[in-house]
Amino acid sequence: MADKIKDAKIIFVVGGPGSGKGTQCEKIVEKYGYTHLSSGDLLRAEVASGSERGKQLQAIMQKGELVPLDTVLDMIKDAMIAKADVSKGFLIDGYPREVKQGEEFEKKIGKPCLLLYVDAKGDTMVKRLLKRGETSGRSDDNEETIKKRLDLYYKATEPVIAFYESRGIVRKVDSELAVDDVFAQVSQAIDAL
Ligand code: ADP
Ligand code: MG
Repeated sequence: MADKIKDAKIIFVVGGPGSGKGTQCEKIVEKYGYTHLSSGDLLRAEVASGSERGKQLQAIMQKGELVPLDTVLDMIKDAMIAKADVSKGFLIDGYPREVKQGEEFEKKIGKPCLLLYVDAKGDTMVKRLLKRGETSGRSDDNEETIKKRLDLYYKATEPVIAFYESRGIVRKVDSELAVDDVFAQVSQAIDAL
């Protein structure tokens, strides 16, 4: 099973909260048939299940902090194994959040062939998240938690981009643009694989 995953294309989709990762991933799934795995969605599903682990996760996410590395990685790995037979490739959305997470992923799962960097300005992300918060029901889409998530993004996740830039696999898209214009850039990056 692990071998099948090793041969699959793996794309890391990285960007700040509200930058548009989920929006672009949906379009990639539609056009290219990749499997979309959002670390945040996996964690929120665990919270929704009402399990004891979910309760602990909820408390951490509500504060805008990162959940323990092993928890996220295990969830992603299980989800990948479940889809290994039918998947052309995997979009790993919102992971790695810090360099260490990327290193562990490569040890336990495999190497990404592309890091899609969804780039938007801080104030754009805040605006989008506040708007999303009107309907998302996400307890972390509030002003106070958004600020913490952004701070953590700049501190922990931007170094991830530099780490993969040194390997030459980063493609940056301008997510200040309209969704379809961003997607044109995304498509170019994927077509070049
Ligand atoms: P992320 O998954 O990176 O947190 P989302 O894809 O959920 O971000 O997008 C956050 C919000 O911003 C959503 O409400 C989405 O509709 C909106 N959004 C995403 N991309 C764009 C864009 N290019 N232009 C305008 N709004 C966008
Ligand atoms: Mg998302």
